[in-house]
Order: sequence, then structure tokens, then C-alpha cells
Amino acid sequence: MNSSIIGKIDKARRYAEEKDRVAITSLRSTFKGDHNQYDVSLDAGNWNCQCHFFSTRGVCSHIMALQRILEEMLTTQPEAVQAT
Ligand SMILES: [Zn+2]
Repeated sequence: MNSSIIGKIDKARRYAEEKDRVAITSLRSTFKGDHNQYDVSLDAGNWNCQCHFFSTRGVCSHIMALQRILEEMLTTQPEAVQAT
């Protein structure tokens, strides 16, 4: 393996620890709930889920779980959000 690739791998490891470098702007996913599997998506800041709870409440456990998993990658400027 040449040295430039090794350098890129080291950089990727460091980047992977710094999640606020990434802003997820759209997303397609399948979510395995306890009983069924749902398609969950994010487009231009709007979440959508196939489950019944989402259709009546506009939010659901699948979306909230994904928000926890992705955390700071969901906003472009997490520092501004956290500032007091
Ligand atoms: Zn859902």
C-alpha cells in the first residue's frame, strides 16, 4: 500500500470521530421495528415514516431513534444550536 493511501486512511479515521463535519441533507432508510419494517426518509429537513403513529402524530419512535443515532450530523451548524 502506498503512503498516500495510508495518509488518507489516517485522515478518514480522524474525520469519522468528528461527526459535526458531516451534514446529512437527505436520507432513505428501512427501520426494523419490533413488529414491522418501515421506510423512513428525510428530505429538505422533513422526516417521513410509513408507520401509523407518524401518520397521526407527525413524529414516531423510528424517527426519534434515527435522530439519536445521527445526532450532530443532522444540522449544518451544531455549535450554533448548542450555544446559550
Ligand atoms: Zn415510524
